[in-house]
Amino acid sequence: MAPSHIAVVGGGITGLSSAWHLVRRFPRTPITVVEKEGRFGGWIRSERVEVDDGEGHRESMVLEAGPRTLRPQSKAILELIHLLNLEDSILTVPLSSPAAKSRFLHLPGRNGLAQLPSSFTSLLTSPLSWLIVPAIAREPFKASNRPNGATDESFDSFLSRRFGPEFARCLGSALVHGVYAADSRQLSTRAAFPSIWIAEERGNGSIIQGFLRNTGTSEEPTYDLGTIEATMKGVSVYSFKNGMYSLVDALLKALNSRPNVRLLPNTAITSLTPKGKGKLLQVVTGSETLEPSHVVAALPLPQLDAIIPSSSPLPHLTANPASSVTVMNLVFPPSPQPIHPPGFGYLIPRPEVPFPYDGKQPGILGTVFDSCSVGDQDVPLGPGNPPLKRFTKVTVMLGGPYNVTPEHISVSTVLRHLSLHLSRPLPDPVLMRVHNHRHCIPIPTVGHVERMEELNRKLASSPWAGRLQVVGAGATGVSVGDCVKAGRNVGSDW
Ligand SMILES: Cc1cc2nc3c(=O)[nH]c(=O)nc-3n(C[C@H](O)[C@H](O)[C@H](O)COP(=O)(O)OP(=O)(O)OC[C@H]3O[C@@H](n4cnc5c(N)ncnc54)[C@H](O)[C@@H]3O)c2cc1C
Repeated sequence: MAPSHIAVVGGGITGLSSAWHLVRRFPRTPITVVEKEGRFGGWIRSERVEVDDGEGHRESMVLEAGPRTLRPQSKAILELIHLLNLEDSILTVPLSSPAAKSRFLHLPGRNGLAQLPSSFTSLLTSPLSWLIVPAIAREPFKASNRPNGATDESFDSFLSRRFGPEFARCLGSALVHGVYAADSRQLSTRAAFPSIWIAEERGNGSIIQGFLRNTGTSEEPTYDLGTIEATMKGVSVYSFKNGMYSLVDALLKALNSRPNVRLLPNTAITSLTPKGKGKLLQVVTGSETLEPSHVVAALPLPQLDAIIPSSSPLPHLTANPASSVTVMNLVFPPSPQPIHPPGFGYLIPRPEVPFPYDGKQPGILGTVFDSCSVGDQDVPLGPGNPPLKRFTKVTVMLGGPYNVTPEHISVSTVLRHLSLHLSRPLPDPVLMRVHNHRHCIPIPTVGHVERMEELNRKLASSPWAGRLQVVGAGATGVSVGDCVKAGRNVGSDW
């Protein structure tokens, strides 16, 4: 029997995509989406601004405070784009473009940027070949060394075992800074990089052999993709002409057009309780009490922990920490010399010493060269003849394991370090936005997968009896693709 009423708690991308898929699955069931803030979308925040250098150059630009690009591998998002008719709004970055081919590292203590290899030949000529070539040449011949009975391991320990500690520190930590703004010594390999964990098993201890033996025959659900899969051939990453919020806007429009959906912004849930022998749940907000038959909890796990009663506790909701990140959007005026080399951007590995925060260096994790990857979001304003000189937008990410308190971040220090990384003097930015995001990216620490399995067993049993599903960045994966996929799966056994 279809649920009699579903409440979705949390109106970020997970909650909205859950509601959208639920409305398709149960077209007559009343669905209420409850969001604490006045706006929906959670961490997805795009803004269109106009910049002016005072010398006749003007440009309309998109700035992102949260996620900025998506990977075409996530079929769940491609399906959403197709179902919401968003194909004409996407902006793709081809695999052949500099943004796809050129990614850099800045190694602390060294000058400038070192380009990461993007092909077998560039592996040999890369300034990082001293680090990468010996590590990957030895790995297939190294004896299996996963500790007996290990069910998970930190990403740093995992890479150190197979490729050596320097490889793990330089490349592994930089990758984790870029995705989780976290310390790779805390992050669960099994939760964050499941395909690498499985490759080691398939390769009888060797990750490289495991990938070579991958036949790619794993069962995938069927997605409704229309022609978008063809559009995504040869694409490295993509976004939308008006930024990531286009996805949220389209979901809100689609949900608003359904008579059985009620969207409640500015409404915080204060308690969520099982009621009447598992038949109903009680959801209390400041203004009303709902009694849905089923609930999707799509809010951060510690915030879920705060609203469930101590009489029906759920395990592990506060087990993981979350990264706090400062996102700094900078727009530089047109200048005779490029601000940065062509490419996607660069990441900075953790230093050899414990994470220092001494006020002298600002705790930069990496910088994205937005104009190079999603520059087509930006439109010069003016006659266009002679061709207008373009502004450059970059985004600097700071904080995470450096534990920098936002009030200690000095813009002039950030600009000085940026200039050192890019090995060139920088003009004053014409526009700057600083966003201090507290606890914005949950960090799945070692043991996360097993903890979530235990949580799901508890949810399936009395008093919750399978009527509450817990999804979202903290439970089912942080990328927007993971969030949309989790939303697609909710309610499949209701
Ligand atoms: C700076 C940054 C950059 C990122 N870059 C990328 C990227 O480039 N690509 C990518 O794929 N991913 C990226 N991510 C990750 C991705 O954006 C997030 O993991 C994802 O948006 C999380 O969505 P969510 O709906 O699960 O959670 P949230 O966005 O946190 O939404 C949860 C919602 O629940 C609401 N809520 C909380 N408590 C209550 C309550 N009591 N009652 C009602 N509502 C409540 C909140 O207000 C919020 O709107 C980035 C994240 C950040 C922070």
